[in-house]
Order: sequence, then C-alpha cells, then structure tokens
Amino acid sequence: MELFKKMETKAAESVKKDQPSGDTEKVTCLILGSGPAGYTAAIYAARANLHPVMYQGMEIGGQLTTTTDVENYPGYPEGISGPVMMEDFKKQAERFGTDIRWGMATSVDLAKRPFRIVIDEKKTIETESLIIATGATAKYLGLESEKKYMGHGVSACATCDGFFYKGQDVAVVGGGDTAAEEALYLSGLCNKVYLIHRRDELRASKIMQRRLMEKANIEIVWDSIPKEIVGDQAVNGVIVENVRTGEEKKIEITGFFVAIGHKPNSDIFIDYLDHDDVGYLKTRPDTSKTNIDGVFACGDVMDSVYRQAVTAAGTGCRAAIDAERWLSEEGKLG
Ligand code: NAP
Repeated sequence: MELFKKMETKAAESVKKDQPSGDTEKVTCLILGSGPAGYTAAIYAARANLHPVMYQGMEIGGQLTTTTDVENYPGYPEGISGPVMMEDFKKQAERFGTDIRWGMATSVDLAKRPFRIVIDEKKTIETESLIIATGATAKYLGLESEKKYMGHGVSACATCDGFFYKGQDVAVVGGGDTAAEEALYLSGLCNKVYLIHRRDELRASKIMQRRLMEKANIEIVWDSIPKEIVGDQAVNGVIVENVRTGEEKKIEITGFFVAIGHKPNSDIFIDYLDHDDVGYLKTRPDTSKTNIDGVFACGDVMDSVYRQAVTAAGTGCRAAIDAERWLSEEGKLG
C-alpha cells in the first residue's frame, strides 16, 4: 500500500513537472511524428512512465494514411486499411497515457539540454529527451491526375500495394534504385511492367540495371515523362510524352507507381544531427541514438533502405527503450 502511495506521489510530481509554464512547457519525453514509429515509441514510452507528449506533425498517421489496404503487417490476417491501422496505433498509445496533440515542430535548438522545440512557430517545449519519428515523404510528379487516383491506381509503394495488381499491367516512373526495385518486385506479381524514365540512361546501380534487363516482362520506356494518368473510377492508362520527339502515346495500365525518390522530413534537425547526403538521419550502430545524447531517431527519417511499417514500428520501440535507459542514467526519471 505504502509502495503504491509512493508511486502515485512520484507520478503526480512527474506530471506536475510536465505542466505548461507560460509559453514554455517542460516535458520529459517529446515525440515528433505520428506514423508507426512515433506511435510505437509512444506506447513503449508511456508504459515506461515517461509521460510522453507527441506532436503528430503535418501528415497525421504518416504515409500509411495514403495507402488503402495494408496486408503485410503481421497480426492482420485479413489485412487492414492504412488509416484504420493508424487510428488503432493512436488509441493504443493514448490508452497508456500519451498526450497526443495537433501541431508540428517548426524549429529546434538541440545545442544544449533541455532541448527546445518550437511548435507551430508559437509554443516552446523544453524536453529532456527527444524522439524524432518525422518520417519521409514520397516525391510525386505533381500531376492533378496523380492526386485524383491516389489509392485508386496510384501508389508510391510497390511492396505495400503491388499485390492488388496481380496479373495486371502496371507502370513505374523513375530511373533510380527505388524504381528498379519497385519494377523488379512488381515483375514477380504482374503481367507486364513498364518502367518510364525521362532519360536514355538509368541512374540505378549496375547490378539493378542488369536485373531489370533480365526480366522478360519489364519494358523500359526511355526518354519519356508521364503527362497524365487517365481512367474513370480507377486508372486505365497513362499518357506519356517522348521528350525527344514530342510524340504522345497511351500505355494501358491499371496501376501507376511513382518511384522518383523520398525526402526524409529532417530539415529542421540538419544543423545538429549527423545525416547522409539525402538528409536521412544517422544513428549509432544497433541503436536509435543520434550523435547528440538524449536525441533518438526512428522510422523512415533514418531508414532509406527498408521503409516498411513493421520496421518503422521496430525502430520506434528501440527509440523508447533507448530514451528510457538514457533518462534513467541521467537521473531524470522522478
Ligand atoms: P534517386 O536515386 O534520386 O532517383 C530518382 C529517380 O527518379 C531518378 O532516375 C530521376 O531521374 C527520377 N526523377 C526524379 N524526379 C523526377 C520527375 N519529376 N519526373 C520523372 N523522373 C524523376 O532516388 P531513389 O531511387 O529513391 O534512391 C535514393 C537513394 O536510395 C539512392 O542512393 C539509392 O541508391 C538508394 N536506394 C538503394 C536501394 C538498394 O540498394 N537496394 C534501393 C532503393 C534506394 P534522373 O535520373 O533523370 O535524375
């Protein structure tokens, strides 16, 4: 009984410490981003009594909210819609007390502790630990029809959505390793894959190029850019223009995969944290720790290779465990 009372007092003190003071609010663990990585970090951090506060960011629920059905996340034998799955993640994080809020971080000061994070250019949060789960954004061509058919024939993830086009004809746009990988993946499922590239030479690595050439059902449409994706309720073709001749033609497809790269959402951290040429945050081997003690990164903002919901969730778990251990070592836990 006495032990429970002590725990309650500690928890109450810790919560009190987390209350706003003027425009600045002090928290123990701040999570930025609300995809599978952020929510998983929140579940673990809340259960470890870190009283996490989460700002959901611009794309609430992350990239999965732009997919229709998710069929490769273990535990859902019948599949589940991306937005519903993210709502479930959110409820689970809330169930253990995560304070989930609207808003996005607009600037940060990670030079000293506590770290200072400005939300929506207005409110300042001072946090002892920071978990960055801000994800990445797939680049799109910017066509109106691309938006119109998003989730109805247009996708930026073959691993997520390729299965729905089994036995059908599809197109991939891009000439890098991602496009090559997506085309190869789809070639194992689909009848025919058109790889549309704007130049006469691929950017993809030589080995990927060789694999592409070896596939009988992949056709590369050179020197071409998609002008418009066409269809009625769903996609039934893409109009491509040959940039050398100006000639336009329609390619009949039911799935259109955009693979022209991703951009990690790391701009505001770039001055402080180690990153690669593209902006993916670097973590220390086998951890979620960045080069700054107390700052952890998980999910697609630090993963240019796997980029799956399940791998993002795994790294979110790591980040919360690393944060809990670090806070404990620093004597910041009550
Ligand atoms: P990327 O290397 O930047 O390639 C993007 C491709 O999209 C380029 O071919 C580019 O054409 C094309 N593109 C860009 N904007 C376009 C537009 N508006 N319209 C039409 N085409 C457009 O991106 P990525 O393929 O995502 O690869 C990113 C990094 O991850 C690379 O370092 C890559 O090696 C790495 N990666 C590695 C693997 C692997 O090792 N298995 C898998 C995936 C990615 P241009 O060539 O004309 O510029």
